[in-house]
Amino acid sequence: CGIVGYAGGKRAVSVLLDTLSGLEYRGYDSAGVSVFDGDGIVTVKAKGRLQNLADRLKAEHPGLAGGCGIGHTRWATHGEPSDVNAHPHATEKLSLVHNGIIENYQQLRSRLLGEGYDFLSRTDTEVAAKLIDSLYHGDPIAAISEAQAILEGSYAFAILFADRPGEVYATRLGSPLIAAAGEGETFIASDVPAILPYSRRYALIGEKQIVRIDREGISLFEPDGSPAKLQMLTAEWSV
Ligand code: GLU
Repeated sequence: CGIVGYAGGKRAVSVLLDTLSGLEYRGYDSAGVSVFDGDGIVTVKAKGRLQNLADRLKAEHPGLAGGCGIGHTRWATHGEPSDVNAHPHATEKLSLVHNGIIENYQQLRSRLLGEGYDFLSRTDTEVAAKLIDSLYHGDPIAAISEAQAILEGSYAFAILFADRPGEVYATRLGSPLIAAAGEGETFIASDVPAILPYSRRYALIGEKQIVRIDREGISLFEPDGSPAKLQMLTAEWSV
């Protein structure tokens, strides 16, 4: 039940696994990551311990060296714990992780089935991924903002868009989310302790605000897509 995102000069897979381990206390039944690699996004997920995911990454993608990605530990609410129900949920255009519950997912699922979308999993999350896919025409902030007007329930999302390498987008409603900045690297996470090994400078994301991170820094937007003021805080405590 945690989400993380990274953009920087380090190997994203290592940072994502490390920061996810900092969220293990929240509980989970499966885990997964998506990372930009050359031309596209590679997604790997596994039921069970984070170590299962680490083993699968090592065995199947030993050369996955990209510096930008998202990660997730899942606490299943809709659909049993399994590899296919684990996050991220990916389409050709994007890959998405989610904490929370989409309340109107059944209605949205029928609508998206009618638009020609197929569903691989039993999760409410896959519906959110495909809704945003259907609204995405090159402007991530606009697509997320439009999706927020349709989605009901609670969420923290982190999203990679295939045509925006090096960038992570995230937003929240009712579920926690922070962004953090280090030297030439940025993070998003469900909470501050996960990123403390890397940085003490963080910002809280307000309800429905949308954040974009890349190696250069953090950009914050209001729910309507207009720029928002980013207020950085310094964590004084240690873990
Ligand atoms: N409702 C989503 C699922 O069951 C997300 C669960 C979570 O917060 O980890 O897949």
